[in-house]
Amino acid sequence: MPERTESDSRKLLRRLRDTLATPAKGQERLDRITRLIAHSMGTQVCSIYLFRDSETLELCATEGLKAASVHQTRLKLGEGLVGRVARFGQPVNTGSAPAERGFRYMPETGEEIYSSFLGVPIQRVGEKLGVLVVQSREARQFSDDEVYGLEVVAMVLAEMAELGAFLGEGEAMARVHTRPVLFRGATGQEGSAEGRVWLHEPRVVVTNPVGDDPEKESARLAVAVAELREAVDRMLANALSTDADHLEVLETYRMFANSRGWMRRMEEDIARGLSAEAAVEKEQSSARARLEQASDPYLRDRLYDLDDLSNRLLRLLTGQGADTGAEMPENPVLVARNIGPAELLDYGRRLRGVVLEEGSVGSHAAIVARALAIPLVIHAQRITSEALNGDAILVDGDQGLVHLRPEETVAHAFRDKIAMQAEAQSSYASLRELPAVGTCGTHIALFMNAGLMADLPSLVGSGADGVGLFRTELQFLIRNQVPRRGELAAIYSRVMDAAGHRPVVFRTLDIGSDKVLPSMKPQDEPNPAMGWRAIRVGLDKPGILRMQVQALIRAAKGRPLTVMFPFIANRGEFLTARKILTDEVLREAAQGRTVPSQVEVGAMLETPSLAFAPQEFFDEVDFISIGGNDLKQFFFAADRENERVRRRYDTLDTSFLALLEQIIDRCARSDTPLSFCGEDAGRPIEAVTFAALGLRTLSMRPASIGPVKHLIRRVNLLDLKDVIDEARASGAESARAAVTGWLARQ
Ligand code: PEP
Ligand code: MG
Repeated sequence: MPERTESDSRKLLRRLRDTLATPAKGQERLDRITRLIAHSMGTQVCSIYLFRDSETLELCATEGLKAASVHQTRLKLGEGLVGRVARFGQPVNTGSAPAERGFRYMPETGEEIYSSFLGVPIQRVGEKLGVLVVQSREARQFSDDEVYGLEVVAMVLAEMAELGAFLGEGEAMARVHTRPVLFRGATGQEGSAEGRVWLHEPRVVVTNPVGDDPEKESARLAVAVAELREAVDRMLANALSTDADHLEVLETYRMFANSRGWMRRMEEDIARGLSAEAAVEKEQSSARARLEQASDPYLRDRLYDLDDLSNRLLRLLTGQGADTGAEMPENPVLVARNIGPAELLDYGRRLRGVVLEEGSVGSHAAIVARALAIPLVIHAQRITSEALNGDAILVDGDQGLVHLRPEETVAHAFRDKIAMQAEAQSSYASLRELPAVGTCGTHIALFMNAGLMADLPSLVGSGADGVGLFRTELQFLIRNQVPRRGELAAIYSRVMDAAGHRPVVFRTLDIGSDKVLPSMKPQDEPNPAMGWRAIRVGLDKPGILRMQVQALIRAAKGRPLTVMFPFIANRGEFLTARKILTDEVLREAAQGRTVPSQVEVGAMLETPSLAFAPQEFFDEVDFISIGGNDLKQFFFAADRENERVRRRYDTLDTSFLALLEQIIDRCARSDTPLSFCGEDAGRPIEAVTFAALGLRTLSMRPASIGPVKHLIRRVNLLDLKDVIDEARASGAESARAAVTGWLARQ
């Protein structure tokens, strides 16, 4: 085989580009390309395999293999050497293909006479498009130089595919970004939405993968990299926070921006004939392929940093800023790798849905999405590579599914589901002014959970009796710095104004565990959920707690004030926390300020230990609210953030119901008001079960009030209590079957 030089490589790329410029059908182009590559590489075979769907590769063009096998030979992802290249996004280079692990013989191609095999992925920033293969009779490994040369060619093919170069009438191949794709993620917030994709960070489109003049391309790259370095230096200089982790991220950016290895590889790509932007993308693609294989979280984070930096560089080179001039569609569904809570709030209620590649149930973005009642699907892997601005998209937050560019039949069924949900919502609206009273005459107070100003309009709309849980940490989580006392007082005051005569229960800061303030250094704890969080932080470092209760006292402006402390595990913690609050009230009074007309102080019961606290605690506390999310995770020792176990134990498990009953009894003995404010309170079946056991106040997300009230009004809670007791007496592990069976018969 002839030695290949850089100028051979450039010549080949230019020819490839010419095929793009010449009008032709997709198939003709592919045929011409395989001929060109085989000729230029001096191999007998060159084949292009493209994805038909996300799992199947199809031989779409070949020079050297039997023509009859084109569009007939298919391989599954991971199958044979071609499938292996596609799965791992890495080249396979062997002098003896049949002896290679995983080789699969396909007689229809006539490939048995070719010994050597080199396959490279055709991929574009994480998006797998196909595999480019050269084969020859001679049993020899391809040189590093040849592998590299073929990778460069594959990069150009990827860009051509992106531009639709291989599309043709009726040709079912390489239909990039046109076919329907289903993403299986996880529920971040329930609800369904239909809309059009709005990418938080739009994809950069490279229209010129081939560079004519390497010197010019190299100079363009140098200018863009210099700009990038300056930008990173500026970011470091202006970094608002002195938080070590944030600075570390920026330092890593700087390190990458100055990395010689990265620059050298891009320079080499340019020397081979790629344009500056195609060179950036090529290195970004291989970083993404490595990212997929990396299990070390630190390494993954660094590869993400490199990815971000590559995107910035691409924007500088193409002039396509975050603002591409595209207009946000009327019914936008935000698609992003991840998004911060403040950015999500900026989009606000305009969004129909949100789909993230990362995120977690307790992430700040999920909390905001919940507050805005926007359906959210998390863990939708690779969706940012697949989706284009304006693509049709269906978000099924209940199942954690996303249909991108759905078939009409799927869209149709989905619309029916949305219409049914809307119908149910409007029927709930008619209940708004009616009380939640069971047919037995028992009244249940329904409160809402809140935490953002965006929640307040729901107070009236949902018909809530008040705010049963105001999660104050959200105001901290959406800012980069700890808010000032005056700012907080103004916010809390507006909340009380909006509530009017309805009570608001302010929960003091619940941080730690999954809720890490941007302004605080995350603690490296072996098990953060059971670590230094919530009231534990407040008691050990009372500065912020004091400031917060001062803000609450001032916000009340002489009105009654209700405060509860999160995560109280024993009586002592409650007494100490309450003393901080009462001391502040006394201090404010001593300074001549108006103090609340009445102060009620409660505890959240989120650890089983508190259910067994001495009776004095139940006598002393003004009220108790069960934080069922945490209580359940600790009762069953099943992490609420861990998808593998979080649904493993039923809330209606009779052991858990026994715990609830014990709490209800103890509160009843001391006449202590009791409520339940975890997510389960918003699930109608759970809600009526709690009510039947004796809970008289439930606090839930606003959208749940209608469905919960609807069910309570249909049910005789005394009869339901008998049903639950019977289930328990029969030894059932969970009361669910009995409860749902009985409800169905009502
Ligand atoms: C709970 O644990 O049930 C609760 C309401 O608190 P959070 O979900 O904010 O931890
Ligand atoms: Mg909690």
